[in-house]
Amino acid sequence: MRKKIVAGNWKMNNTLSEGVQLAKDVNKILTEKAPNCTVILGTPFIHLADVVRSVDNKLIKVSAENCADKEKGAYTGEVSAAMVKSTGAEYVILGHSERRAYYGETDAILKEKVDLALANNLKVIFCIGEVLEQREAGKQNEVVKAQVENALFHLSAEQFANIVLAYEPVWAIGTGKTATSAQAQEIHAFIRGVLAAKYGKQVADDTTILYGGSCKASNAKELFAQPDVDGGLIGGASLKAPDFYGIIEAFN
Ligand code: PEP
Repeated sequence: MRKKIVAGNWKMNNTLSEGVQLAKDVNKILTEKAPNCTVILGTPFIHLADVVRSVDNKLIKVSAENCADKEKGAYTGEVSAAMVKSTGAEYVILGHSERRAYYGETDAILKEKVDLALANNLKVIFCIGEVLEQREAGKQNEVVKAQVENALFHLSAEQFANIVLAYEPVWAIGTGKTATSAQAQEIHAFIRGVLAAKYGKQVADDTTILYGGSCKASNAKELFAQPDVDGGLIGGASLKAPDFYGIIEAFN
């Protein structure tokens, strides 16, 4: 059975003390109302170690939002997968559309990052998704297929067990415009088919595929009720504990 997951992506928000407080607030709510899914907090690098120490690891897992495409050495300002792992974080988000668009992260760079993350025993939340023009041209399926193939299909089936996919249509991220549950289901089922063709039905069935893009408490239940939508990657609505819990609660 694949995992149901609700993962927050704080992006570049929150000072250290604000982030720790937010993590403690989420932890407090989940201590009182146990989640029916895996809950992950994706935080900036500087928060990782403190957030790991501030939450109950049985209730909340912690993720970085990125890691370097190099192992170690003279790469000023970069943070390696080994460093992320050393904080106690268990996941890393890779391939987010903001990294692709603003920091030039190509499929080839992402492939390196994925390999280093897995080599350091991190699980990867790998983001894929089309921009508006591609959706309007009906090219969303070929776009996500290429993103998966180029960055992930060199992995063995055993390695692939450490990959969570997050389908995030770029036109829905931070825009308030959510994909309909039918649109999400259609492309999630397509992605699962792509995985089945490469790795077989079992691996495809075991892979968690999250939806991301203006997901909030009011639409999470309907999205998560789709058979191939296994939870969400949440940006804006992960920045306030009650809003984030409203999405986690969609699985209750
Ligand atoms: C994201 O950036 O991963 C995301 C889904 O953002 P938002 O929920 O704000 O659209």
